[in-house]
Amino acid sequence: MKRIYLDNAATTPTRPEVIEAMQPYFKQSFGNPSSVHFFGKETLNAINEARYRVAQMLGTKDEEIIFVSGGTESDNLAIFGTAYANRDKGHHIITSQIEHKAVLEPCRFLEREGWRITYLPVDSAGMVDPDDVRDAITGETVLISIMNANNEIGAIQPLNEIGTIARERGVYFHTDAVQAFSHIPTKVDEINVDLLSFSGHKFYGPKGIGGLYIRKGTAISPYLFGGYQEFNLRAGTENVPGIVGIGKAVQLSMLEMDAQIVYIASLRDKLVRSLLEIEGVRLNGHSSQRLPNNINVSVDFVDSEAMVINLDFKGIAISAGSSCTAAMKGPSHVLTAIGLSYEEARSSIRITIGKDNTEEELTYFLDVFKDVVNNLRDMSPVFQERRLGSK
Ligand SMILES: *Cc1c(COP(=O)(O)O)cnc(C)c1O
Repeated sequence: MKRIYLDNAATTPTRPEVIEAMQPYFKQSFGNPSSVHFFGKETLNAINEARYRVAQMLGTKDEEIIFVSGGTESDNLAIFGTAYANRDKGHHIITSQIEHKAVLEPCRFLEREGWRITYLPVDSAGMVDPDDVRDAITGETVLISIMNANNEIGAIQPLNEIGTIARERGVYFHTDAVQAFSHIPTKVDEINVDLLSFSGHKFYGPKGIGGLYIRKGTAISPYLFGGYQEFNLRAGTENVPGIVGIGKAVQLSMLEMDAQIVYIASLRDKLVRSLLEIEGVRLNGHSSQRLPNNINVSVDFVDSEAMVINLDFKGIAISAGSSCTAAMKGPSHVLTAIGLSYEEARSSIRITIGKDNTEEELTYFLDVFKDVVNNLRDMSPVFQERRLGSK
């Protein structure tokens, strides 16, 4: 069966160039980067080159980047690391209601430990209001963590403004940029952050590798202890092939990002226009402050799980909400935060386009999607009643 992958926010395929760059580090170049001999120096050099690539992408110094096991570890380290190192100042953290679980769950853990967490609301487009951030800051606040771009609805947050407020008040500012990094520009001085999390598998790199940017001078404690790797902030022998892979993926993104934004956004805009022509379909999230690859729509009278499963039968992969919430009962916390009702949230799907998707694939998707929606609506008693009522 022909398969079409439209779930690029969940993960992306590792690009062939990345796999090729990683190969030697499973084979002849296997040394431990901490070793002083040739084998160690070889892998240490490879890590440093990858670090340089990431630093270029973010516009930072090399030594402000550390590699960890992925986006989740990066978010956890940013939150627990700054909370612990700054606990003498206070026990308050500001975040938003639409963060990824990798931010929300560490915050909930700290809450159970006696910390106060402010979960800021968002407007109907999914945007945090910088004034709300300003109002929430107290003398006790040690960290603000607001994501760069949301993984379900793609909303891009006003980080620059929030960062300016954070700096004025002397509060550290972390962003989960896992969905944004290597997809849209993320120079740290433009988005104005002190800590930034990214993950390899969301931009055609390997899984199980990610990193954290930490602005020089930020007070942060490690939470894994052992060897002195990664400037003493992340113990454990480095995932050398993974680091080489993420470095290669970043290098390629640097070259291709501008063109990819134009290409992917044009596919996205065309598909959105066609989807909105279908009766009872609405776009969720911001119309322009949005990731180029993200579409999230509510489809009246159709259950999102039913759409995902029926499309899967036809070889098309999309997602109901985010991949992390899909396995759980209850509607997405992001869709309810933007004001959708339980029914609307349970009839919403996410389509995320990748660099390898073609216009033909999206045309095929649209045809199949219309069939699936019609069939499901034919089976929906509520929809049938509505249809009779309107005649
Ligand atoms: C995928 C994702 C994460 C988690 O990253 P992993 O590398 O899978 O641990 C965190 N935050 C956001 C916004 C994500 O999309």
